[in-house]
Amino acid sequence: MKLTYHGTAAAEAFPGMFCTCDTCERARKAGGRNIRGRSQALVNDDLLIDFPADTCMRVLAGRLDLPHIYNCIITHSHGDHFYPRDVEMRYPVYAHMKEEKPFTFYGTAPAKALWDAEVAKLGPNEARMRMQLVKPFETFTIGRYTVTPLEADHDPTTEPVFYLISDGEKNLLYANDTGVFPEATWAWLEEHRPKLDMLSLDCTAGLSAVWRRHHMSLDVNAEVRDRLREMGCVTDDTVCYVHHFSHNCLLTYDEMVPVAAQYGFAVSYDGCEVEF
Ligand SMILES: [Zn+2]
Ligand SMILES: [Zn+2]
Ligand SMILES: [Zn+2]
Repeated sequence: MKLTYHGTAAAEAFPGMFCTCDTCERARKAGGRNIRGRSQALVNDDLLIDFPADTCMRVLAGRLDLPHIYNCIITHSHGDHFYPRDVEMRYPVYAHMKEEKPFTFYGTAPAKALWDAEVAKLGPNEARMRMQLVKPFETFTIGRYTVTPLEADHDPTTEPVFYLISDGEKNLLYANDTGVFPEATWAWLEEHRPKLDMLSLDCTAGLSAVWRRHHMSLDVNAEVRDRLREMGCVTDDTVCYVHHFSHNCLLTYDEMVPVAAQYGFAVSYDGCEVEF
């Protein structure tokens, strides 16, 4: 299984669009991996996670082959994870297709409501674009993948989830925009005990110590990882990464790598490919 991080920042991007704080200034000056767009990832070459406005620039840069991807799971309805205005770009006039094939979004009710509002303006075109409603703890399949949305601790109005994704051989837990997992999610993990080949956790707060709600800091990432280890979900073979960063983590990519290593995590960056 392969995960490619296409974007690894929180909503404001990193450096922040309008921000002049010291951390953002250091990131701007350093460039390269210290520059992060809004969070998005691709499983293998065919299952997209989240759809920010930044998607377009990734396609233009030749890094994301969106015309040949047909499925996208959405974590929640915040704008840095779902930008429904670009749904129209798959409609006729904007997209010419050699083969009519639908692109399907999967998301919880608030994201589906945004999608419905967009489609109400455009008119439905099920041959091109669809959205399937998903619910926490209700496993569904997308081709060869088995996908389980798990409840996140984040803005409850977005009915946030994060995803356990299996291709039948390997398991990935990709969790952003969540604090320490809600008890319902721990109970599900306790019951099913998936052996994780890769774990990727929200690190919005980095070195801002003990950030437990809605997002996480590095020390809390370690606490979550250790609880998963006690349950047998994480082993010595699990590849552990952090993603979804903001300037509130107080560290640029270059600065974070050695610090995260002390906690047992590798640090993702835009374009980072992980085979596991
Ligand atoms: Zn976010
Ligand atoms: Zn800043
Ligand atoms: Zn969010």
